[in-house]
Amino acid sequence: MIEQIDILGSPVNFLTMETAIQAIARCIEEKKVCQVVTANAEILYTAQHDPGLFLALHDAGLVTADGMGVVLASRILGQPLPERVAGVDLVYALAERGVRAGWRFYLLGAKPEVLKVAVERLELHYPGIQIVGSHHGYFSQADNVAILEGIRNSQPDILLVAMGAPKQDIWLHDYLDKSGAYVGIGVGGTFDILAGAVQRAPLWMQRFGLEWLFRLWQEPRRWRRVLLLPRFIWAVLWQRFRR
Ligand code: UDP
Repeated sequence: MIEQIDILGSPVNFLTMETAIQAIARCIEEKKVCQVVTANAEILYTAQHDPGLFLALHDAGLVTADGMGVVLASRILGQPLPERVAGVDLVYALAERGVRAGWRFYLLGAKPEVLKVAVERLELHYPGIQIVGSHHGYFSQADNVAILEGIRNSQPDILLVAMGAPKQDIWLHDYLDKSGAYVGIGVGGTFDILAGAVQRAPLWMQRFGLEWLFRLWQEPRRWRRVLLLPRFIWAVLWQRFRR
């Protein structure tokens, strides 16, 4: 059982990249179904009034701190998380480990052309990686049965779902156990980054917790989502001083 902190009513586990990988490897070895949520400030804030997302977080086997906002929140609450474990970095680390361990990956999400390039880049940068199937992320409820059958037939160990939060996390909560995969991870915009359709913020911005600013500059339509950040920090301060 990995220790956790309560942030706005939802759990976040005390994990480093290495312990996250070890926990995922254990799920695969023990053939245990395990959902991983890479939680950022927006997810934790939204979960307060989104019952589907709230349940996904509470039933998840692992919840990692996807953004520096979550790490900052843990410091405010006096129980600092060891580090940020962002979805995109987790995918790189799993791909590397997966080559050696022989893990089988299935990629679900993003636009078809983005997904195609993301698969090609993974295969180029991690020679020997087993990507046993993929499907874009624009489908209707009625397509779920066929998509799940496709995933089951490919027998993946790890199902990476990049359909944006909270959609991907609620989808995994509803369907991971029907997919045949052991581990299901919501990885947000990771396939766009892999494909080069979206640039990652420079390292110094990531370190200073300014990745949101870079993303806002790249995709100004996200401004509404960014407004949740100060509300998140305010709610965490309220949680801290209400005790
Ligand atoms: N997406 C998808 N299906 C949808 C909506 C979005 O596959 O119905 C994909 C979209 O193409 C993009 C990713 O989900 O690749 C969302 O990325 P975003 O950066 O918005 O994720 P988040 O900020 O939630 O991590």
